[in-house]
Amino acid sequence: MHHFSYKNGTLHAEDVSLVTLAEKFGTPFYCYSTATLERHYQVLADAFGELDALICFAVKANSNQAVLATMAQMGSGMDVVSEGELRRARAAGVSADKIIFAGVGKTRDEIAFALKENILGFNVESEPELHALSDIASSLGVTANVALRVNPDVDAKTHEKISTGKAENKFGIPFERARELYAAARDLPGIEATGIHMHIGSQITDLDPFRHAFKLMRELVLALRLDGHVLHHLDIGGGLGVPYRGAIDEPPAPTEYAKVVSEAFGDLGLKIVLEPGRMIAGNAGVLVSRTLFSKREGKRTFTIVDGAMNDLLRPTLYEAHHDIWPVQERASDAPLIEQDLVGPVCETGDYLARGRALPSLAAGDLFAVMTAGAYGAVMASTYNSRPLVPEILVKGSSYAVVRPRQSYEQLLDLDQLPPWLS
Ligand SMILES: *Cc1c(COP(=O)(O)O)cnc(C)c1O
Repeated sequence: MHHFSYKNGTLHAEDVSLVTLAEKFGTPFYCYSTATLERHYQVLADAFGELDALICFAVKANSNQAVLATMAQMGSGMDVVSEGELRRARAAGVSADKIIFAGVGKTRDEIAFALKENILGFNVESEPELHALSDIASSLGVTANVALRVNPDVDAKTHEKISTGKAENKFGIPFERARELYAAARDLPGIEATGIHMHIGSQITDLDPFRHAFKLMRELVLALRLDGHVLHHLDIGGGLGVPYRGAIDEPPAPTEYAKVVSEAFGDLGLKIVLEPGRMIAGNAGVLVSRTLFSKREGKRTFTIVDGAMNDLLRPTLYEAHHDIWPVQERASDAPLIEQDLVGPVCETGDYLARGRALPSLAAGDLFAVMTAGAYGAVMASTYNSRPLVPEILVKGSSYAVVRPRQSYEQLLDLDQLPPWLS
């Protein structure tokens, strides 16, 4: 559920008209809904209410500090994958003891920075990383809490670019080597392996891959305990999907997901850590863009718009579907035209929707690319020297620009000429 809806024929974010925002701030822009972010967090927190659970929002899904602060106010922790994300989370007021540092390629500087911040723990993805962490923590005279990311080798049945739990993926340590690496960790100074972590992929809309992975993880937890390891927490990662196409890819309800978690681990006395990203932020955001031109080439209708792949990469990168809603509501019987919504970037892959039956979008018409709150603005680039677009956060009838549009001066100032050219 989200809080973008038509009021008097105009699409609103909560109580704010997207036309008002477009007139005031220009297009394209991202618009986020506070009520939607809060609702998703609350639904998940309620579903896991019976379990001892900590929700750590996956910062990589949407790292705007206003979004992070909104989450932090609800009590959320954060899952970060870089020093930059860690710094953002801290700057947004997230306490270090609710921050987990994950990722397959942490540098020594990043590890040292996180240790000095005294974060909750590290999700470690390889034996060499375990040694590096032990080294650095020992030299700083501190002890790092560690969870090893175990790869259960299950197929999350999602897009191959967002599947992470198969043996062929770069993530985590192989399931069969887990006991050996926990034993190695026990002998290393500066670290204490008190947790275990898994994350099998993203945009998962079927509970079976989770069930399968949880069964394996339960067996592993029991085996590790028999080996004498004291495990306090289990981090089950993120990955719960969102309905990009209305009813077609309906994800399981958080309560159903919580039930599966509870059935697998409820009796083990483990603190459960969750790392949801998409499920919290996905449909809490839209990208609003304006039509520039329409042209017909043979049988194809191209609607050329001011938003592009540099603003929202998901259609190009993942062949992702995003629903398109005209900002001015159309009659339910308005004729639909099959069209490609394409941006101005000089790439064939630059599209927001392809072969989509939509009402006609004339020059000047505004439309919203739905479910763009996760992996949207964070993946934006300035390709084709297009300035980064603004992000606007709505709360009820209030709104604020939480990242201004990048100016051409700022864009140009990123480069410097060498002395022999200036
Ligand atoms: C990307 C990622 C997440 C968040 O995934 P969502 O599908 O957005 O919930 C959580 N944990 C890890 C380790 C990740 O890489």
